[in-house]
Amino acid sequence: MASKVYFIRASRDQGDDAISEKARTLFKAGGFSDCFRENDLTAVKVHVGEDGNTTYITAPCIKGLADELLGLKTKPFVTDTTTLYVGRRHNAVDHAVLAAEHGFGLEGLGVPWIAPDGLSGTCAEAVQVNGEINKEVFIAHGIARCQSILSVAHFTGHVAAGLGATLKTMGMGCASKHGKMAQHAALTLEISAGCTSCGVCREYCPADAITLDDVQAYIDQDKCIGCAECMAMCRFGAVRCNWGQETEVMQKSVAEHAAGALKGKENRAAFFNFVISVTKDCDCFDTPNMPKMVDDIGILASTDPVAVDAAALDLVEDKAGRTLGALIRNKRLDPRCQIRHAESMGLGTSTYELVQVD
Ligand code: SF4
Ligand code: SF4
Repeated sequence: MASKVYFIRASRDQGDDAISEKARTLFKAGGFSDCFRENDLTAVKVHVGEDGNTTYITAPCIKGLADELLGLKTKPFVTDTTTLYVGRRHNAVDHAVLAAEHGFGLEGLGVPWIAPDGLSGTCAEAVQVNGEINKEVFIAHGIARCQSILSVAHFTGHVAAGLGATLKTMGMGCASKHGKMAQHAALTLEISAGCTSCGVCREYCPADAITLDDVQAYIDQDKCIGCAECMAMCRFGAVRCNWGQETEVMQKSVAEHAAGALKGKENRAAFFNFVISVTKDCDCFDTPNMPKMVDDIGILASTDPVAVDAAALDLVEDKAGRTLGALIRNKRLDPRCQIRHAESMGLGTSTYELVQVD
């Protein structure tokens, strides 16, 4: 049976307040209030934007959604897990300060910021998923224990997963550091001849696995945890991966972690994909004004995390006239892998009915 995906046109040019109202209109049109109950501890999963990034989904864009949850008398909290790479989201304190600076919290949204994975990202629950890659996954405690979830995903490309949208938000974004490492564990990376020995990758490496000489960087494979942060941060394309089976393992692992994050929350989660500022790379980049792959499309929402990603991907590819795989940084990645694997696990269906809302 097809899942309903609600869609409203929107663009960044209309301004944050207009985007917020459109998201709120979608929330009402789709009847998403049915997912939430009075006194629920409701996680509003966001990405607060890396310091310097200007294309993430801002706090004012989700004010209407936060107000809807408050109106339903749930106890919403905005939240995101800490990163593997060393930056301003690496621990809960720095992350909370960045979130507050970007308006995510009581002052900006009227709901508190809560770190779901503890001070340093290790506070987790093991969740059985019996997947092809993982029998159990490690999900941030605050996600595993909340009663309902409103997921705010920004549709972008991704350096290792191909597609960054709802499944990636639920899988990687809701995993503890242990869970994130498990997802990245399949990747083996090497430094190629294009390396300028600038040292940026070493700054971001969470495992102290990179050394430098005057010529290039080197990765100690015994220390490397496969997080791909060096690849994400290298501006010279010098970090190479054995794209193919390894990345497919990672993409499947992302889908299995999404299944873990959502276990026990059937019909208790709503998934919003913001398909505006569709950049090649995700919001973890500290780069301002990253170029868009396609013009802004709008916002999609569903109670089905597979359908909402499938529908958003189809709209992007229709608009671009090309596959997402042809637009992203590494053209050998198949961005649909996460969707297929999540569907095979029973997380949802890629068969959907698009319901346009005005
Ligand atoms: S791999 Fe890239 S980021 Fe690392 S030192 Fe070489 S050029 Fe710099
Ligand atoms: S060398 Fe390994 S651990 Fe270090 S940033 Fe690169 S992938 Fe991550």
